[in-house]
Amino acid sequence: MYATWARFCGAEVVRVPLREENGFLPDLDAIDPEVAGRAKLFWVCYPNNPTGALASPAFYDELARFALRHDILVASDAAYSEIYYDCPPPPSFLASPGAMECGIEFHSLSKAYNMPGWRVGFAAGNRDAVAALRTVKTHTDSGTFGAIQKAAVAALTDTTGYPDQLRSDYRGRMHLLCDGLEAADLEVLRPRATFYALVRTPAGATSEEFADELLHKAGVLTIPGTGFGPGGEGYVRLTVCTGSGQIEEAVRRITEARTGSQCGR
Ligand SMILES: *Cc1c(COP(=O)(O)O)cnc(C)c1O
Repeated sequence: MYATWARFCGAEVVRVPLREENGFLPDLDAIDPEVAGRAKLFWVCYPNNPTGALASPAFYDELARFALRHDILVASDAAYSEIYYDCPPPPSFLASPGAMECGIEFHSLSKAYNMPGWRVGFAAGNRDAVAALRTVKTHTDSGTFGAIQKAAVAALTDTTGYPDQLRSDYRGRMHLLCDGLEAADLEVLRPRATFYALVRTPAGATSEEFADELLHKAGVLTIPGTGFGPGGEGYVRLTVCTGSGQIEEAVRRITEARTGSQCGR
């Protein structure tokens, strides 16, 4: 979406690779200064879909300095800010020095409150950026159905600790998935956040071939990493957006397919 909408607006899109050895964070020093000089907008997404990686406050500080130096607006997609495991809450870009001058952060109720498809979210950050977004939004679509707005108010004013409950459900399922796949001799990149886990493609197969095998031999749908960009070769993405029973079933089938028909070996 980031790329397609930029292209709709006539912008040139430059991809910044996210590599495992850099903790799936962009290497700002590797960005061509000529490109940085022309850039207007820099999208980042942490906690990250599809890698499950987190940004550190130090990375955000560096990003804010980079953006201020090159006069770039940072658009931080924080849709997964509430879905994290065994770590403190993920930091916000807006907490970094200077970030309010050069940043806007996007939140959604889709993940934190299990409301995907309901189309409710919010943005915060630089005053001019938020005002510009408001102008675009008012001329792009109309208001949300009232009952959904009331549901969103109920979600955001909830005092029952709903996101805590959700986190603990996802944590349990994530352990189930990762433990099961590791027992089936697959290498899992255990996520720090989000409900996605990357699995390393076994040697001898591409991401797409491995995803095809899992689909046809085990009946389990995964997304090849290459669906997210060229840097995704070597991984497939799994999710725990389903009940523990189905996750157990998927692990059982993957294990069976791998031992039975040498799936991914
Ligand atoms: C799910 C998701 C969102 C939220 O999208 P909505 O349109 O609010 O449902 C945003 N960014 C990423 C990367 C996501 O995966």
